[in-house]
Amino acid sequence: MEKTLTIGVLAMQGGFREHIASLTKLGVKTKRVREAKDLQNLAGLIIPGGESTAIGKLLRETDLIKPLRQKITAGLPTWGTCAGLILLANEIEAETPYLDVIDIIVRRNAYGRQIDSFRTDLLIPEIDPQNKIPLVFIRAPFITGAGSKVKILATYNGRIIAARQNNILVTSFHPELTDDFRVHKYFLQICRKAVE
Ligand code: GLN
Repeated sequence: MEKTLTIGVLAMQGGFREHIASLTKLGVKTKRVREAKDLQNLAGLIIPGGESTAIGKLLRETDLIKPLRQKITAGLPTWGTCAGLILLANEIEAETPYLDVIDIIVRRNAYGRQIDSFRTDLLIPEIDPQNKIPLVFIRAPFITGAGSKVKILATYNGRIIAARQNNILVTSFHPELTDDFRVHKYFLQICRKAVE
């Protein structure tokens, strides 16, 4: 029988409800993560979009940086969307990093004020080799550099917008704001493999 997974969603600020809604539609149990004890017995963790400075400040105030970093570096499958990507990066241009667990350099609000939100469709072969995935960007970051352990999953206009380093997945867009669940399903596969 397939084991039921519980996926934690960091619920400090930002789009955690939308991720919980997507996971619930996929029949997955979720847990809101607000303190270190919420990190027990999770098969995976999602760090949502929102405002990285606000979420990062709350992480520091609640002493969650260290326990989160420990879990993630010990192998907990973790997916950061947008602000979540920024929080996971080991380098943020002109700012101090937060969790410092994936070898990428991130530029915040990288598309500028003119085009602070947009949608597009893109083929991401690692996730679905046949059909394009709808992507929603909101004051999105992109990745300006990645280390050798990082697998680049997608680029848009020459900029990296999705990447993976072992158990850590980052996307600068928001699958939880669409009703397309392919990226969530891809992440759940990573979580299932890790519990096997
Ligand atoms: N602009 C936000 C930041 O820099 C990220 C936006 C988002 O998560 N949609 O934190």
